[in-house]
Amino acid sequence: MFIRRMIGMIVFLTVFLYCYIDENVEAKEQVLRVAGDDSLPPFSYINEQGKLEGFSIDLFNAIAKAQGMQVEYIPMDLSQSMEVLKSGKIDAVIGMKYTAERDERFDFSEYYFTISESIVVPKDQDEIKYLTDLKGKLVAIQRNHVAFNLLKDVRRVHMNIAENQLDALELLMMGRADAFIGNKWTAQYYLEKHGKETEYKIIDDPIQPADYAVAVQGGNTDLIKEINHGLLTIRANGTYNDIYNKWFNEANSKMLQQMKSIVHLLISILAGAGMILIMGFVWNKRLKKEVMKQTKALKEAYQRLEQSQKEMANQGAFKEQILNNVPNGIVTFDVNWHVTSMNKEAKSVLLTDEEWQNHSIIKEAFQNYVNEREEQISGEVEFTQNGKAYFMYYHLRPLLNINNEKTGFLLIFENRTEEKKLHEKLVIQEKMRAIGQLSAGIAHEIRNPLTSIKTFVELLPIKYDNPSFREAIKEHVPSEINRLNQIIEDLLDYSRPKAPKKELCIVKEWLNSIFILFEPTLRKENIDFSINVDEELTIYADKQQLKQVLVNMILNAIDAMKEQEIKRLKISAFPNEKFTTIQIEDTGRGMTKQEIEKCYDPFFTTKPTGVGLGMTISLKLVKENGGDIEMESLYGKGTTIQIILPRSIEKEGES
Ligand code: ADP
Ligand code: MG
Repeated sequence: MFIRRMIGMIVFLTVFLYCYIDENVEAKEQVLRVAGDDSLPPFSYINEQGKLEGFSIDLFNAIAKAQGMQVEYIPMDLSQSMEVLKSGKIDAVIGMKYTAERDERFDFSEYYFTISESIVVPKDQDEIKYLTDLKGKLVAIQRNHVAFNLLKDVRRVHMNIAENQLDALELLMMGRADAFIGNKWTAQYYLEKHGKETEYKIIDDPIQPADYAVAVQGGNTDLIKEINHGLLTIRANGTYNDIYNKWFNEANSKMLQQMKSIVHLLISILAGAGMILIMGFVWNKRLKKEVMKQTKALKEAYQRLEQSQKEMANQGAFKEQILNNVPNGIVTFDVNWHVTSMNKEAKSVLLTDEEWQNHSIIKEAFQNYVNEREEQISGEVEFTQNGKAYFMYYHLRPLLNINNEKTGFLLIFENRTEEKKLHEKLVIQEKMRAIGQLSAGIAHEIRNPLTSIKTFVELLPIKYDNPSFREAIKEHVPSEINRLNQIIEDLLDYSRPKAPKKELCIVKEWLNSIFILFEPTLRKENIDFSINVDEELTIYADKQQLKQVLVNMILNAIDAMKEQEIKRLKISAFPNEKFTTIQIEDTGRGMTKQEIEKCYDPFFTTKPTGVGLGMTISLKLVKENGGDIEMESLYGKGTTIQIILPRSIEKEGES
């Protein structure tokens, strides 16, 4: 059922389409012959290529396209086209004005343009303003023009008739007419084309508005229908507007375009100005913010600066206080040894810079600072100033800048005058103590020769005549007296301070002379004592100073052995390369490690009545004599001390 119905429909559609296409092909094959005015720009006119163009032509082409019609255009003037249309040689005339009289002869399509006639006169012409002003004037006009009848009603109008509107206009321009009457658009087109728009004016008083339409032979209603339908279509789809704008609004649209561009430009300028304003505002705001930020930073920096200035001032004051309150004198110099600053203590020694310049400390330091490579030097200097003796210890070092370049010198000195005085006092005290300790021995030493002398003196009256007795007196008394003298000499030497007086001496003899002093004490203390020295062995030193050293060492050994069971003191001397070593060995209490380290320190003692200067003085004296002291000690077992001294004068020079 369904298939049969489908086949039926397809057959019907095929037949219908065939008939329809056939009919249309036939219609398309028909070419419409359309006449258009050849001199009615911009509606229809012959262009430079000799072809008909214009608003009416474009419009009819659009209608023909919409209706699927083929068109052939034939240019001819209005009067001629009306004749030809009547004869049926053409199918239609475009751009014909509708009039009632014409409507009787032809059929008109719907109008496609409303046109009014205008008067064109030279610019300086003031008389003609209205149609009625044409009275007595010569007017150029197209034959068969719609205004023709109007002019007939105006009295005494002379007419110069042309075949078309362009010819009529040319008559006006040639001065063969006072005015032109005709299509306003054509006149405008013509004047612009010939650059005469400034010389003529179109009086804007429209005369008899009328419609332009397409005229066909009377009774050809089919064609009229087609044309009307086409017109409706192109009005509806906007084609009519496009064509209208192309021909009539070009100038307007140009102006509009110009206006638009001006507006665009203005908008751009305004937008730009706005942007600049906004940017300016934003920038201003940012600038303000930045300025505020920078101001804050500056303020903070200023505060920091102020703070650091304060700190620096405080630091300066702090440093100055320290510098002025240290017990040391501090002086700075530039590289030429000119004083650049000094502290209170330095000023207290000498007040002016000049005085400082020539001061003994500086001279001494400068003399000693000969080696430029030396980093720093220290030394002692003694001088008298205003009758007062000074003893100073100084320390000199170069001052360097951050690039390690020498900028001057720093001198620090310590006034050790009082200390030195005290030291000297104590040295004497120490000596006195040693003498005190020795006094028992000394008393014994003196008593022995005195007893022997006394015995001789007592026996003298009785035994004077005995020759052997006299021999004995001769032999013993002088030697006993010499011995007494020697003891007294030695004692005096010991207590009297003396400048070192070096001499070559035989160790054995020298040691024996010291031993004499100790013999009674050693015996009393039950100390096993021995001396072991080569006969010829020598030392080159100050005998008396070295005696002091040895006395101290032996006394220390005796002290150390007081509580010991084994008491043995061994003194020996032997050559050692260029030196002579004198060795003192005891079996005393010995020293701890700490005691060994400290025993040379002034005033270090482990004894209740000790002074602690013996070792200090001993080391100083030995060093002054070009020697050294070495020590080995075992706590609880004993001590060995070696005094190393130059053997001879040459050896000393080599040391
Ligand atoms: P003092 O004898 O007045 O104490 P010294 O300078 O002579 O001063 O000696 C310092 C210290 O060194 C002594 O108190 C002692 O402790 C130690 N000393 C020195 N020699 C010996 C020694 N032979 N045996 C043990 N101790 C010693
Ligand atoms: Mg001592």
